[in-house]
Amino acid sequence: MMSTVPFVIVATVTVIVATVSGKESSRHEILRGHQIWQLSNDVGDVPLEVMQKGLLDVLGHFGTSKKVRVPFHCLEEAQRLLQEKGVSREILVEDLATYLEDHERLSKRSATMKSDAYNCSQPRHDDYMTFEEMECFLKRLSEDNPRASLTSIGKSFENRDLWMVHVRPNDPSDSEEAGAVWIEAGIHAREWISPAVALHILKELVQDNGSIGNFDVYVVPMANPDGYNYSFTSDRMWRKNRRITSQPGCGGVDLNRNWDFHYGVGASENECSEVYRGSEPFSEPETKALRDAMTKVKDQLKVVMSLHSYGQQLLYPWGYTKHKTAPDTSDLIARGKVFADAAKSVHNTVYKVVNSAGDLYKASGATDDWAKGVLGVKYTYTLELRDEGMSGFNLDPSHIVPCSEEVWEGLRALLNEISKE
Ligand SMILES: [Zn+2]
Repeated sequence: MMSTVPFVIVATVTVIVATVSGKESSRHEILRGHQIWQLSNDVGDVPLEVMQKGLLDVLGHFGTSKKVRVPFHCLEEAQRLLQEKGVSREILVEDLATYLEDHERLSKRSATMKSDAYNCSQPRHDDYMTFEEMECFLKRLSEDNPRASLTSIGKSFENRDLWMVHVRPNDPSDSEEAGAVWIEAGIHAREWISPAVALHILKELVQDNGSIGNFDVYVVPMANPDGYNYSFTSDRMWRKNRRITSQPGCGGVDLNRNWDFHYGVGASENECSEVYRGSEPFSEPETKALRDAMTKVKDQLKVVMSLHSYGQQLLYPWGYTKHKTAPDTSDLIARGKVFADAAKSVHNTVYKVVNSAGDLYKASGATDDWAKGVLGVKYTYTLELRDEGMSGFNLDPSHIVPCSEEVWEGLRALLNEISKE
C-alpha cells in the first residue's frame, strides 16, 4: 500500500476538467486527462493484451506494481475491456498533467529552471541532465581522460548523435584476457534515472584503478536522444523513439522491442501501442547503430547490461519465453546475487534477481535477449533501477547519487567475480 501513497494524495486534489476551466496550459498539456490505474492482483497477460491494442501503457516493465497509464481518449474502451476480462481497477491519478504540475511545484523544479552554470566537468547531482548537457559532459570527459574515447556510433531518427564512450582498462597489457563490458542506458525515454546513473558510472570508470578487473568498458549513456528530449519538452511519459509512423498522433517505435531475436513475441504491430515493435527487426537507426557497434566487439564481450527503470530488479534472460531456460542460467543468477548483495551494502536498497519473463509478461526484441541469443554473450542483464513504484519514472533527482553509488558497487563486485573465471 505504501507504494500508492503519493499518487493517492494528488488524486484527491486533481480536477479533471482543468482544460475547460481556463487553467493555463503547461508543458504537460499532452497528458491532460490521462489517468493512472492500479489493477487488481490476478491480471495475467490482460494488461499486455490491452497495451498491444494501444489502449494503455503498463508502467514498470515487468509488472512490479501493476500500475497502468490510460490516455484520455482510451478511458472507456480500456475500462470496458478490462472489465470483460474480470480485471478491476482503482484510479490513483485522475489527471496526470495536474499530477505532474503539482509535483513540479512541490519540488520547485522544472526544466526551465535549470541553471546555465553547468560547466560539464561532472555529471549533475542535483537534477536530470538535458541531452545537450550530457554531450558537453561526455566531450569534456574524453578530453580530460586519456583512457576514455568518445565515438558517435550513428545518428538518431532526428539526427542526434548516438554517443559511445570506450574506457580502456588500467593495465591494457591484460585486456585481451579480461574481455569487455557493454552498458546501455536511456533506450526508454522517460526512464531518466538510467542515463543519469550511466554518466556517474563513467565518472567512476575513468577514476578506477583496476578494482573492476581489467575490462574494456563500452558505455552508451543515451541510446534514445530524440525520445529523451521529447520527454523533457512535451511528454514526460514518452517511452519510444520519435519515428514518424503512418498514423497521426501515434509516432515512435519501442526500441527495446526492435531487436531481432524472437522478434514480435509480446510486442505489438499496432503503431499506437507503447510496445510497437517497428515495421521490421532493426527498422530503427538507433537499434541498428547499437547492433553494429556491439557486433564489432562481440568476441570480447563478457557482460551486457541495459539500464532501465523502475522496479529494482536485475533481470536475466530469456525475456521472450517463460518456458525455456537460457544457457548459463545458474551462473547468471549466482553473479546477479553478487551484484545485488554489493548494491544492498551501500544504502540497503534491495535489487531482486529475477527472470525477465517470469513476473508479469514476456517481451521479445530487447537488448539483453539479443546479446545472449545472437552474440552469445554469457552475462546479459536488464537492470531496473530505483524505485519500486512509489514515484516511478518521476523519481526525485535526490536519488541520482545514491542510486549511482549502489549500482557502481554492484557492478564492481559483479565484474570482479567474473574476472576470476
Ligand atoms: Zn525501460
